[in-house]
Amino acid sequence: MHTQMLINGQLVAGEGPAWTVLDPAAGTALAQISEASEAQVDSAVRAADSAFASWSQTSPKDRSLALLALADAIEQHGEELASLESHNCGKPLAAALNDEIPAIVDVFRYFAGAARCLGGSAAGEYLPGHTSMVRRDPLGVVASIAPWNYPLMMLAWKIAPALAAGNTVVLKPSELTPLTALRLAELAREIFPAGVLNILFGRGATVGTPLVTHPRVRMVSLTGSIPTGANIIGATAASAKRMHMELGGKAPVLIFDDADLDAAVDGIRSFGFYNAGQDCTAACRLYVQDAIYDEFVERLGQAVASIKPGPQGAADTELGPLISAQHRDKVAGMVQRALDQPHIRLVTGGKVLEGAGFFYAPTLLADVLQDDEIARHEVFGPVVTVTRFAGEAQALEWANDSEYGLASSVWTTDVGRAHRLAARLQYGCTWINTHFMLISEMPHGGQKQSGYGKDMSMYGLEDYTCVRHVMFKH
Ligand code: NAD
Repeated sequence: MHTQMLINGQLVAGEGPAWTVLDPAAGTALAQISEASEAQVDSAVRAADSAFASWSQTSPKDRSLALLALADAIEQHGEELASLESHNCGKPLAAALNDEIPAIVDVFRYFAGAARCLGGSAAGEYLPGHTSMVRRDPLGVVASIAPWNYPLMMLAWKIAPALAAGNTVVLKPSELTPLTALRLAELAREIFPAGVLNILFGRGATVGTPLVTHPRVRMVSLTGSIPTGANIIGATAASAKRMHMELGGKAPVLIFDDADLDAAVDGIRSFGFYNAGQDCTAACRLYVQDAIYDEFVERLGQAVASIKPGPQGAADTELGPLISAQHRDKVAGMVQRALDQPHIRLVTGGKVLEGAGFFYAPTLLADVLQDDEIARHEVFGPVVTVTRFAGEAQALEWANDSEYGLASSVWTTDVGRAHRLAARLQYGCTWINTHFMLISEMPHGGQKQSGYGKDMSMYGLEDYTCVRHVMFKH
């Protein structure tokens, strides 16, 4: 087990208090890891700051080659990394190995190519006798803070564009799921010059706060919850650092009576429950039209009841546990409060699963109303709600009536309706007749309280640069 951090090209043990890292499928300890001390956070930021002078001046080709080498190393160690991820998150091994590792490798390869295509948008004489040009330059040290749901993938989304653009990085994975990041620290150490990428271990309050507030950090990139985003924005306001915020979600899913019902039932079974619903884009807030409502709820209920929970390594496991006992209790509490309302109907699930680990049954709640807590707030667990609607205008109004703005989907065979709704939904992404599909070339990110800034795509790369004007007097 790799438990050392990467600071200035050296693998070092944390000098702060130790924290136990768990296997949430078994509820047992995997490792005891010491977190970084404040002095180590300071060393990591200073190392990144010193490395910036040379890394920012490397050619795009050389940065691209380094990212390609890291992609190759991840691919070569794919089985080991997938096994670590699956043990630390409890997720099925097949999902980590076959879904996540190839996507992670692709993100590094995409940004390796994108690094060589970054350009300014103008060169010309906008003032007589003067030539102007626009440059996109890196910002300096980026503090990257990652969550626990897809630890290595979120790391990739953060460090690949930051390094491609010529920034240096200090990354803190979640204290619950550090194992793949600490293993990657060893792989990256062989590839990047000292200080370009630093990886710390520790909790938000003890390591995250001194990192994001450090005066030499020029940008903070967070994927996490809305309260953590607000906390970081508040704590860094006086220093006006660049912020990149990928926060929570509560995706509305609009299913019309002309939709392909088989595809919609299959789709929600997959996209509502993948990663045990611990996904910011999870298809969790369904609005289903009157004429198909009863049939849809019945069919989806049968499909959800057939989802198979189990340990990581079992070939038929579809659903892993929640990340911690605390999170499972939060999910259970939200479902219980929903069921305390007489109008909400439990179709399936609604209980903690007996036995080891932090499992919660895949759950479908029907007849939920727009203002119910369970429809308004992120559950981040294997829980999908269904609300009945009459017409398109009502569905759109309810879908947009949310503080979240990350992802949405529309299920219909009416092309005009699909376009009308795609143009009006206030979400960073709208899928038509699917949900959840992400690709490296397309931007991912939210609006409203789901945050701002884009991951992946050229927009993601641009977010890690500043636009500069250079003017030459003739
Ligand atoms: P979290 O906010 O609890 O923690 C995220 C990270 O922030 C962790 O590394 C944590 O240690 C750190 N942190 C906490 N307080 C901090 C502070 N004061 N200063 C600096 N760092 C601090 O989130 P989580 O529970 O790990 O992840 C789940 C949340 O992430 C959900 O709300 C989910 O929707 C969101 N998420 C969003 C996206 C997206 O793309 N928008 C993707 C994945 C997860």
